[in-house]
Parts: sequence; structure tokens; C-alpha cells
Amino acid sequence: DLLARDKESLAAVETADTGKTLVESRIDIDDVISVFRYYAKLVATQSDRLVDVGDPAVISRVVHEPIGVCVLIAPWNYPLLQISWKIAPALAAGCTMVAKPSEVTPLSTIAFVRLAQEAGVPPGVLNLIQGSGAAVGAALTDNPDVDFISFTGGLSTGQNIARSAAAHVSKVALELGGKNPHIVFADIGTGDAWDAAVDQVLTGVFLHSGQVCSSGTRVILEESIADDFVAQLAERAEKIRMGDGTDARSETGPLVSQQQLDKMEAFVALGISEGAKLVTGGQRHALGGSFFEPTLVTGVTPAMRMAKEEIFGPVAPLFRFSTEAEA
Ligand code: NAP
Repeated sequence: DLLARDKESLAAVETADTGKTLVESRIDIDDVISVFRYYAKLVATQSDRLVDVGDPAVISRVVHEPIGVCVLIAPWNYPLLQISWKIAPALAAGCTMVAKPSEVTPLSTIAFVRLAQEAGVPPGVLNLIQGSGAAVGAALTDNPDVDFISFTGGLSTGQNIARSAAAHVSKVALELGGKNPHIVFADIGTGDAWDAAVDQVLTGVFLHSGQVCSSGTRVILEESIADDFVAQLAERAEKIRMGDGTDARSETGPLVSQQQLDKMEAFVALGISEGAKLVTGGQRHALGGSFFEPTLVTGVTPAMRMAKEEIFGPVAPLFRFSTEAEA
């Protein structure tokens, strides 16, 4: 209820920290509210429940048993939502926890912890610690007193954390990166159906400037429609209105940091050096700051790094296929 009360200010904080549009931030905060309501309901309905497994000789009971001390580490792309997916179930299960948001986007988690205090969460249950992943994050995940680590972030960090958890045999949950395909077949249809497919691909690759782990970052097009489809994608990508997330006219915001901007430039340069060609974009946006143009790259083969590694930004490699098996 306190989250709902403060939805507008939380959304404003998220936009200030990430650069995403206020429309997106409001959707994020609505999701956060739903997450807490969902786990609150689970506490009320799932604890100490007997499950009928169809065998009278077997008793199966859902037991409410906290794991213990949880370390919760979240990334910067959906700061409050990502950490809520960890805090809400940990609270519901009766655990104590240390939450570490990304140092790039700490503000909404600070605001959240203040709300938790206002709601009466007892001292010592929900602890917030700030600082870089390399220093503070590693100190937390290396600590043998920790019973459970929940981490969302990049693959190599996740691999390190799995090693730390193994050393202490603590439980660990990892949500890592992705390289998700969008496959577009020639039978998508025409008119509205065609436009809907173009919309889906654009949203999949350019929402939040591509800084989404489930981003549709490999666009795989059937040969017979590829030229027309790419032409439309490019035309529409060039019309995406980038800008300040607080400006209602903006359709998408900047990248979260200079570091991400540098990474996009490096990926485009790498793709071109490996033989890919720019269809549109490929540069820092005229707006300056950490804005990067929505970028489409063709001539990408599955062996190229751009085809295999997560880009995590507004750069979409395009592929072609002739048969479903090849796709
Ligand atoms: P990252 O570098 O792995 O960082 C994620 C979090 O881990 C941040 O809080 C970071 O702190 C912390 N961290 C960094 N090094 C650490 C270490 N050695 N020990 C403990 N914690 C450490 O990832 P990112 O670049 O911020 O985020 C992008 C990645 O997250 C992408 O790969 C994306 O796909 C993935 N992601 C996955 C999901 C999912 O649900 N599967 C959702 C969103 C994002 P600092 O930032 O403060 O240094």
C-alpha cells in the first residue's frame, strides 16, 4: 500500500537513475506492487498446507521454513523490480537479508528501504548496503555466514558467484544474460499482421534502449521477406524519438552509463571488422550524453561475436534463413 501511495515519486526516481521513460518506470512500479501483493498472498494461503499426492501412505506438507541470511544482488536495468523479486519472497519466507543494488542505480532501493521501515519491518531484517560489485558484492558472496545468494546480472559475474557459493556450499540462484531470437516467417501475413510483426521486433530490440535480458537480440528473417522487412524496420527505427525520460514525447531514453555507450561502439566496430554492414544507426546519438542510435546490422553470420555475445543495448544483428531447420 505504501508503494502504491508513493508510485509517482518512485517512478520519478527510477527514471532519474536509469534514464528510462516515466511510462516504463510506472509500469515497473506497478509490477513491484504486484510482486509484494503476490508474495503476501502466498504467505496467507500456502504455509502449512497438506498436499494430496494420491497415496494415503504419504504425507506431503508445505512447510514454512526460512533459509536464513540471504544476499540479494540486482542489476541496473530494472533496479527496484529486480530487487523486489528477491526481497518479497525472502520476507515472505521469514528470512533476513542484505540487499545490494547496482551502484549505478541505487536510489529506488534506498526509497524502498525507507518504506519498509515505515511499514514496520523490524530492524535487522532488511539490510541495505551500497558499493561496487567488485568490492562490496564480492565481500558478501564470499562470506561463509550467508545461507543463500540470489543474483541477477551478467554471465561472468554469475560464474564467479557460483564458485564462491560452492566454496561454502551455500544455496545460490542465478538469473543471467540472454541472446534471445526473434524468428520471422514469410507467412506472417500482410497489412495489420505485417505491421504487428514489425512492431514486435522493434519493441523486442529497442525497448529501454535494448538494456533488457529478454531482449529479442537476434532477428532471424525468412529470405523471401527479408529485404522488405529490413527496409521497414530501418524506416521505423529511424523515427524512434529518443529523449529525456521525463519528457512525455520521448519513446526511449539513453543508455545507463558511459561504459555501456563505449560497449555499443565497440560492438558495432567489431561487427564491421568481422564483415557486417550497418543498415541504420551505429553511432552516438546527436542528443549527446549516453544516447546511442537504434542500430540494425546485416550480413551477420552465426560465427561472429555479435551473433553469440549479449550486446545489452540498441544494436540488433539481422540474419536470414531459407528453411525452418536452418533458422
Ligand atoms: P553485472 O556486472 O554482473 O552486475 C550485476 C550486479 O552484480 C550489480 O549489482 C553489480 O554491482 C554486482 N556485481 C558485480 N561484480 C560483482 C562481484 N564480483 N561479486 C558480487 N556482485 C557483483 O551485470 P550488469 O552489467 O550490471 O547487468 C547486465 C547483465 O544482467 C546482463 O547480462 C543482463 O542480461 C543481466 N540481467 C539478467 C536478468 C535476468 O532476469 N536473467 C535481468 C536483468 C539483467 P555494481 O553494478 O554495483 O558493480
